[in-house]
Amino acid sequence: MTIQYVKGVGPKRAKQLKRLNIHTVEDLLYFVPREYEDRSKFKDISQCAEGEQISLNVEISGYPSKIKPRRNLTILKIPVRDHSGHAQLVWFNQDYIANKLTIGDRIAVHGKVNIFNNEIQIMNPVFEKGDHEKVGKIIPIYPLTEKLTNNEMIRIMTNAIRDYGHSLKERLPNYLREELDLMPIRESIINIHFPKDRKQYFEARRRLVFEELLTLQLGLFLIRNRTKEINQGIQFPHISEVDGFIEGLPFKLTNAQRRVYKEIEMDMEKDAQMNRLIQGDVGSGKTIIAILAMFKAWKSGYQSVMMAPTEILAQQHYDSISSFYKEYDIRCELLVGSLSNKKKEEILDDLRTGKINVLVGTHAVIQDKVEFNKLGLAITDEQHRFGVKQRAVLSQKGESPDILVMTATPIPRTLALILYGDLDISIIDELPPGRKEIETYAVGFNIVDRIHNFVKKQILEGRQAYIVCPLIEESDTLKVKSAEELYIILKNEVYKGFNVGLLHGRMKPGEKDYVMGKFANGELDVLISTTVIEVGVNVPNANIMVIYNAERFGLAQLHQLRGRVGRGEYQSYCILINGSNSKISRERMRILQKSTDGFYISEKDLELRGPGEFFGTKQHGLPDLKIANLFTDMEILRLAQKKAKEILEEDVYLVDEKHSFLRQSIIDLFKDRIKDLIFN
Ligand code: ADP
Ligand code: MG
Repeated sequence: MTIQYVKGVGPKRAKQLKRLNIHTVEDLLYFVPREYEDRSKFKDISQCAEGEQISLNVEISGYPSKIKPRRNLTILKIPVRDHSGHAQLVWFNQDYIANKLTIGDRIAVHGKVNIFNNEIQIMNPVFEKGDHEKVGKIIPIYPLTEKLTNNEMIRIMTNAIRDYGHSLKERLPNYLREELDLMPIRESIINIHFPKDRKQYFEARRRLVFEELLTLQLGLFLIRNRTKEINQGIQFPHISEVDGFIEGLPFKLTNAQRRVYKEIEMDMEKDAQMNRLIQGDVGSGKTIIAILAMFKAWKSGYQSVMMAPTEILAQQHYDSISSFYKEYDIRCELLVGSLSNKKKEEILDDLRTGKINVLVGTHAVIQDKVEFNKLGLAITDEQHRFGVKQRAVLSQKGESPDILVMTATPIPRTLALILYGDLDISIIDELPPGRKEIETYAVGFNIVDRIHNFVKKQILEGRQAYIVCPLIEESDTLKVKSAEELYIILKNEVYKGFNVGLLHGRMKPGEKDYVMGKFANGELDVLISTTVIEVGVNVPNANIMVIYNAERFGLAQLHQLRGRVGRGEYQSYCILINGSNSKISRERMRILQKSTDGFYISEKDLELRGPGEFFGTKQHGLPDLKIANLFTDMEILRLAQKKAKEILEEDVYLVDEKHSFLRQSIIDLFKDRIKDLIFN
């Protein structure tokens, strides 16, 4: 029903409401207050403190007085009292109020306390004689738009609830509401706007948040098609040779690595399909875990595949994996877009006939023509770079292969639960020993020359440096240098005589690899780049990361970039050049200077930018949440997740009558992203 049906909403108001994304009566009813002003607790006059917003029950104790200090200003004062003392109600330019109140009237007032010459004044108070509407209540404060005041919004909302509240559909099945003791929808909507008291408010909110998160979670589960049945998977045997392999490594595994590998080993030896996420900060050593798991798969007679988001990274994984396996008869191949057709054909053939044991590659590995002989383990690295569906496609390359997802972006737990709600999570929360702390500095462009001098000094000592600048779009009017421009200037002027390379996203994969290869083997001193180097790249001799316009990156992304250095034996540096004077960007730089804990940093990132901006979530197709807060609603989220699982276990397609409204909610929330996927 369109919004104009609501009393008090004409064409003009409707237009204003549209700006707030309110199109229908239902949109309006679900438009929740941004915050509340609690006028529900009455105090005594004697408790009034300067500057405080206060509610009082008082009696008019004297005649009004008016003064006119300037031509355009009248001040009206009316004396009041309660059992504890006296006060003055003070209004500016509202002398008509004097006619509304007489001595002896008992009224409720709410306003701000001003103490002047020992006199307690309540400034421009709202007041009421009879039933409480504005005082003695919790008042909603709405997000507003131009020319729409909070009072008008309250009036419109009151009308909407009165006339249309009864037509709200109860979308939660009764059995669920009863089981969890959740407020009915109509009562929840009333109390989210006009809470009777705090308790009612919390109950209302709990119900609405639960509904929202349940809908979200059901939708995500359905998209991933994971809960239809607990997938029967491969039961790998115990492989004792893995221990010998671990013994032969050039380093000792950290305790965290051991623990996480054990978790994986246990999963693999179960007959259910493994679905596990490994989270570990940059440099925590995730790759070796994948290498161990693939070793186990190989010894058990299965193929493995590992998908990385960029060609550079795939290449690097391939190099590293091959070198760890060189004593063994494991055939490892790299499949990327830039290979010759002949080589590709050869790889595809050998994969099909089972001659290849481990395949590493980019998206190329999920193309239709890629067929495995006996795929047992599918791994994706840096998963946040991939869409939800790609993971599913990869796993369909085999018959319920075990799935391992690795991510270096520590995701706040709430978000992880949503994004990877169907995965078990392992966390590598320990870095290998002996890593030197990276020194991080935030500076302004005014000392950029000094930075470059410092970099040159390090290069002369044999080190290498990354210089990263933000990607810019055509429309960008802000003054940020593109990697190409910066390259020309730095190569020809600042770093004249040094070897400088350029890497950016529009280069062909072959070109990128060529440049990256030259940097990796030390032929280049400085690599100027956009964020293509962000993920995974490992060049231990590089010890400086300079980031131009660091204010334009997300914190988690900066942390990733910083993780490119500090990988060797040398003291490493990360220099953030902040091109903004804003308080928030200085605050963000400070967070990075202060902390090297990826989890902490990403929590902050989420907090400062909101989940929509937090990179990855948009890609994951996470719809906007209206009421739930990913920071504070963890407990409700857990509950919603548990219930979503139970519901789908019982009624996979939500075809049962009792779930028909839920089903509609899911469609409403996800729109066309889900319709064709699940309901056809
Ligand atoms: P990430 O978790 O960022 O992917 P990598 O797996 O690339 O980290 O590991 C970073 C570096 O640390 C690699 O050179 C790897 O060989 C090394 N490494 C991994 N585990 C250990 C360990 N337990 N002790 C010492 N070095 C390790
Ligand atoms: Mg890695």
